[in-house]
Amino acid sequence: VTVEIITIGDELTSGSSQDTNATFIAQQLHTIGIEVVKITTVGDDTEKIVDALRNAQQKVGCVIVTGGLGPTVDDITAKAAAEALRRKLVLNKIALKAMEERFKKYDRKMSPNNVKQAYLPSDSTIIPNPIGTACGFYLARSNTLFFFLPGVPREMKRMFEESVIPIIKREQPETTIVSSCVLKIFGESESYCDQVLSDLIKSEKEVAFAFLPHYPEISLKLTMRGKDGKYIEKKLKTLERKIKTKKYLGDVIFGKDEETLEEVVGKLLRSKGATISIAESCTGGLITHRLTNAPGSSDYLERSLVVYSDKAKKELLKVPASILKRHGAVSKEVAESMAKGVKSLSKTTFGLAVTGIAGPAGGTSEKPVGTVFISFSHKRQVITQKCSFYGDREQMKFMTSQYALDILRKYLIKD
Ligand code: ATP
Ligand code: MG
Repeated sequence: VTVEIITIGDELTSGSSQDTNATFIAQQLHTIGIEVVKITTVGDDTEKIVDALRNAQQKVGCVIVTGGLGPTVDDITAKAAAEALRRKLVLNKIALKAMEERFKKYDRKMSPNNVKQAYLPSDSTIIPNPIGTACGFYLARSNTLFFFLPGVPREMKRMFEESVIPIIKREQPETTIVSSCVLKIFGESESYCDQVLSDLIKSEKEVAFAFLPHYPEISLKLTMRGKDGKYIEKKLKTLERKIKTKKYLGDVIFGKDEETLEEVVGKLLRSKGATISIAESCTGGLITHRLTNAPGSSDYLERSLVVYSDKAKKELLKVPASILKRHGAVSKEVAESMAKGVKSLSKTTFGLAVTGIAGPAGGTSEKPVGTVFISFSHKRQVITQKCSFYGDREQMKFMTSQYALDILRKYLIKD
């Protein structure tokens, strides 16, 4: 079946509440392979609700509605449902009894407008609400099944899981399995990745490819649906392996699913029994902050120095004054000297250093704002990369940390 979700409430259309109900329902249906084709939100207005219900009836096999089942004047969903689906609004004895019992249990008096909540479209079936007063209900009209649930997220969730899902599954006996994995990409553009994978995207008909940019990274989501879970798992694994080969994206893929770049770098350092020390200028400690987000980072991070001034670079890292004077603090020579300096000072396997111009002032025509040098020192070898970034200070700091961590990762997987 195809599904439309309709959420009702002025608080949603005015933007004062977020529509978490629709998100929840869509996610739940997605995992059991049921397609939501549309999500509609309407305010507390009878005519608009009637319209939405009638439109949905013509397009989908199942409609899930939340909100407006309460006892107050703005709760008009049952009345609108009766009108849209051409039913009478009648007192539902089961709903009334459930409500009376609930009030008795909590020793509270039922007010007359609570009785209003028991008036439902004729031939509706009650969906019990174990944690609130408003019952839900469902009914069929032509070939469409309509579910009505309260707006309160906690009540809606419970009723959706306990009552709605089993009914939908009964209507669609063959359950579909949906499985996905996310490959995380850094260093190439979306269009490049799309181009490189074009023959796979064309030939792998069973797999849906989605590129989801999360600046500065891209997530490539692979999704499969079907009946055979084992087959799906195997197929996704094989495809993942294929995409990671040189022919396709290779080491542009740095991680999978929830993994972060700093976690990946940390795991690589640990697996090699290697240690690192870092000298940061323009990033002000951001690389270290990110690395130390991973628990257990003391296994490989020995120390970091934030060396912002020339004086600090000279005093702490023994960067020669002559180099600073001749090439300036933002230069290949100074970055190299910083990386070597921090490594020999702390006696680690690797030394990493960054120096750059984060702006907005301080740029020259030769070295514009965004010029950054990243140096990496291992044994007698020093590798330096010059980068040109753009954006505000925060973006440039982040990109510098991202490149620095990625240079480290690429070195570690080759080493
Ligand atoms: P009640 O019996 O509590 O009145 P109801 O079915 O009438 O239930 P509403 O009055 O529409 O529900 O909403 C009750 C509460 O649930 C409100 O605080 C509202 O912000 C929240 N709510 C309603 N719809 C949504 C939604 N789609 N997503 C998240 N929260 C919602
Ligand atoms: Mg209400």
